[in-house]
Amino acid sequence: MHTAVFPGSFDPITTGHVDLVRRAVPLFDRIVVAVGINSQKSYLFGLEQRMQWLREVFADEPTVRVDSFEGLTAHYCSRIGARYLLRGLRNSSDFDYEKTISQLNGIVGDGLETFFLISQPTYSHISSTIVREIIKGGGDARPFLPDTLQLPARHDTPA
Ligand code: ADP
Repeated sequence: MHTAVFPGSFDPITTGHVDLVRRAVPLFDRIVVAVGINSQKSYLFGLEQRMQWLREVFADEPTVRVDSFEGLTAHYCSRIGARYLLRGLRNSSDFDYEKTISQLNGIVGDGLETFFLISQPTYSHISSTIVREIIKGGGDARPFLPDTLQLPARHDTPA
């Protein structure tokens, strides 16, 4: 049983994340989209909201499940018996950051392997950070969000 964990904040999930997971579905027996909880970080959307969106988006993918975790990603993987991490690469900044993290995870996670998928050109400009800025500025973020995702009313209308 090959399980991959796709860790992230998903604040909120974007079409870029969705594309990555759907492309990885044929590669693994099971993918766990895991929302990392970092008490030092402040989020635009609450944990339950982010997880609900993830569950809705992947409801049609029987091998994808949604979970959350605190602490080190490598320890979480070991707890659930996952030997693989899944991450996306949009550009060279992602690469520089992800390379170090994956090497550390390989050591802390005792051989935990990270699989990288290069973002498709149509998604490589999309990030949760940019989407949050658009929402906070009262813009329309729908082109970057999955169709099933309904923003709460206060985020729907320009401020
Ligand atoms: P984090 O806060 O840990 O960076 P994110 O939720 O922003 O988590 O992203 C999780 C993963 O999804 C990262 O590997 C990131 O590179 C990938 N990702 C984010 N946006 C895209 C995109 N548009 N295309 C491909 N991968 C993406």
